[in-house]
Amino acid sequence: MQTNFSLAQLADPHVAESEKILRKCVHCGFCTATCPTYVTLGNELDSPRGRIYLIKDMLENSRPADKEIVTHIDRCLSCLACMTTCPSGVNYMHLVDHARAHIEQTYKRPLFDRLIRATLAFVLPHPSRFRAALKLAGFGRPFIGLFDKLPGLKPVAAMLKLVPSASPPASPMRKPGTHAGQGTKRGRVAILTGCAQSVLDPAINDTTISLLTRLGVEVVVPEGEGCCGALVHHMGREDQALASARRNIDAWTRAIDQGGLDAIIITASGCGTTIKDYGFMLRLDPAYTQKAARVSSLAKDITEYLAALDLPEPVRKPGTVVAYHSACSMQHGQKITRQPKELLAKAGFVVREPREGHLCCGSAGTYNILQPEISAKLRDRKVKNIEATGAEIVATGNIGCITQIASAAKLPVVHTIKLLDWAYGGPKPEGVSERRLAAAE
Ligand code: SF4
Ligand code: SF4
Repeated sequence: MQTNFSLAQLADPHVAESEKILRKCVHCGFCTATCPTYVTLGNELDSPRGRIYLIKDMLENSRPADKEIVTHIDRCLSCLACMTTCPSGVNYMHLVDHARAHIEQTYKRPLFDRLIRATLAFVLPHPSRFRAALKLAGFGRPFIGLFDKLPGLKPVAAMLKLVPSASPPASPMRKPGTHAGQGTKRGRVAILTGCAQSVLDPAINDTTISLLTRLGVEVVVPEGEGCCGALVHHMGREDQALASARRNIDAWTRAIDQGGLDAIIITASGCGTTIKDYGFMLRLDPAYTQKAARVSSLAKDITEYLAALDLPEPVRKPGTVVAYHSACSMQHGQKITRQPKELLAKAGFVVREPREGHLCCGSAGTYNILQPEISAKLRDRKVKNIEATGAEIVATGNIGCITQIASAAKLPVVHTIKLLDWAYGGPKPEGVSERRLAAAE
């Protein structure tokens, strides 16, 4: 695609990067077919190609964002299905990240929108605030129907619908320290404790630590790490996202200096996509360029790491039929497609893949709160395809997808690691009935 930027505009490294991306797009439109918002809404401006044109026009003219571009960029899930489909290697992720930061700097949203975004950015990245907010949310539940009827309050209704009826207590295993591996030492890793997942389902990381240590891997929970920054990054809050990245890089760099790390293990694929991008996000900060690139190269999804270990034979041979839902951040963001399914199959599960597996479930960070109507359509489509597999259980590797799909599915939705841990001798995953696992006993 031909672009028209002046030399003065290209002196801004963010614009220069976006210009390189724009020039790769050949307008072919292949990406539209796999874009969930185009498939749902049928509007070219809600397709990757349409958004690319809008971003190009805004950046070339050095214009502040307007209502039209904000509407169509806000509707983008950042699912990155377009990047998987694009034959020209257009890095839509970096382009839309730049557009979101530009919107945040140049556009004044309506008051309520600003309030809800500020609240999400203040609460979600902090486990103690999030835990307190979940308790308070219980009082708002009786008003869901009312909020749902008022257009401006739909995000509040969407948020309340996602709140679990009870949230588990904080896990002592998330405290900084080292969990020694059993038997012959096979590696040393750090684990991201993160933010929302550690509140909604702390058992995911507890199970990961338990399985890894049983396999002989030492697991470090470094002092000072926390939210990866993805949630605010996708809202265009660059400074807040970069502050989270720097804090985590410092924490992991200390762990590397104190004994080396083979990997930084991530159990939420949404976080994995962002941490693997730290090297790019901090490319312009000389104090962090190298450290960020090192952290990104060490970042591994738990299934990526386990697939590279020589796993023993499982203790159980389940035979249970599992529908594997590949999170967008797993399949499109990190291109991890094979490993989770192969691990489940090796552990004795019968893995089925739902139709339209490339389409997002509508979770997408805070999307299911900020764009509840589109999100609900995508969720229902996803659940229908999952239930059509005839599976007993749904497995996936991202807490956002677990919460989203579980809010509408009749089947239990669990993190892949819980099924693997169970097959390798761990306890039965909570919330999965004996009947569903009966084929295994
Ligand atoms: S990231 Fe997803 S929703 Fe956004 S343009 Fe690409 S395919 Fe469409
Ligand atoms: S598939 Fe790639 S090259 Fe074609 S329109 Fe979409 S982004 Fe541009």
